[in-house]
Amino acid sequence: LPPLDPRDPAGLGDLFTEDEKAIAAAVRRVCAERIDPYVGDWFERGELPDVRGLAKDLGSLGVLGMHLEGYGCAGMSATEYGLACLELEATDSGIRSLVSVQGSLAMFAIWKWGSEEQKQQWLPSMAAGEAIGCFGLTEPDAGSDPASMRTRARRDGGDWVLDGRKMWITNGSVADVAVVWAQTDEGVRGFVVPTDTPGFSAPEIKHKLSLRASITSELVLDGVRLPADAVLPEVTGLKGPLSCLNEARFGIVWGSVGAARSCLQAAMSYAEDRTQFGKPISAFQLTQQKLVDMTLEYTKALLLAIHLGRRKDAGVLRPEQVSLGKLNNVREAIEICRTARTILGANGISLEYPVIRHMNNLESVLTYEGTVEMHTLVIGQAITGQSAFR
Ligand code: FAD
Repeated sequence: LPPLDPRDPAGLGDLFTEDEKAIAAAVRRVCAERIDPYVGDWFERGELPDVRGLAKDLGSLGVLGMHLEGYGCAGMSATEYGLACLELEATDSGIRSLVSVQGSLAMFAIWKWGSEEQKQQWLPSMAAGEAIGCFGLTEPDAGSDPASMRTRARRDGGDWVLDGRKMWITNGSVADVAVVWAQTDEGVRGFVVPTDTPGFSAPEIKHKLSLRASITSELVLDGVRLPADAVLPEVTGLKGPLSCLNEARFGIVWGSVGAARSCLQAAMSYAEDRTQFGKPISAFQLTQQKLVDMTLEYTKALLLAIHLGRRKDAGVLRPEQVSLGKLNNVREAIEICRTARTILGANGISLEYPVIRHMNNLESVLTYEGTVEMHTLVIGQAITGQSAFR
């Protein structure tokens, strides 16, 4: 029998092809050199310094829009993209957020619903990390219920004029292009807004205690005048933004497993090294119970991610199934991080270890891309046939 790997006791590594393993290893290597040594400091300072350099490095790695075909994108499988998200989030959820917003929200919106000209103009430079994108759906008074958005686009001659405010927008103040969703007389439409357009501003949101190595901003749209061809021509209605969110959520199904893995590994090695009452704390039954429960939930979450990845690659993944994965994996990942924190004792609250950083980051991941409650209601409706949203 092959030996048991304590980091993968169920042997889930067997479920990946050599190509998939090579992609995961390449992302892990770049994260280890370019991000891991610094990210604790970025988190502490609440900054993402040289975000343009970082975006270009991620572009060279091929992870920006990596699951999209053409226009300079890598055209990888959903499972390969998932593995990249896992490795990126094992580093920090903020870095995975940068990549998700760029590839699965901003680029995907243009790739799926944009005109040929919009694709040619933006996708190659976004894939290379030379242009940064953001995705503006949430508003101060419209979060879980985006249909109640107030941002409005009206026609003025041949132009569109946008007025309104977006809130909690990742990459907002460093973006070159914003995909902004607004009400029109025809229903919700998406607009491709170059961020140097007069009337557009993006003040950064400060005082976050989660996702601190990630830029979050308001978008203020004050009479932003755009040409007629700024609208995404191929979609009207909430189906547009929801299709993008479904893509990004798939990345979170995998990414959250990465954050959990980092905390589980930190707890395992701490428990081995730390001695109390004359024994390593890993020799106490109560610590072993924690480590075993964390390993079980990590293993189940990874198994679910792999299964959903294979379904996506086969073209049969339903949005409700993505909700299952997002709800389970983020909820269990945050539990794993919280338990890891207890194993590290006082060191568990220090940024010298990655655990509290991941734990705090996952508070955002639990809320964005559909809260736990929203995904519970989606799954509830899918299994009972009854909608309990309103
Ligand atoms: P609300 O919708 O006000 O919800 C508050 C609480 O009420 C939640 O617990 C919710 O589940 C519950 N609730 C609401 N309705 C119901 C109901 N019918 N039944 C039961 N419970 C209910 N948005 C973007 O558009 N682009 C981004 O790039 C982006 N990045 C983000 C980055 C960060 C760090 C964060 C924290 C958020 C980001 N968001 C972004 C916003 C995010 O998507 C929203 O915060 C999320 O959709 C929830 O909206 P809300 O915060 O307004 O909460």
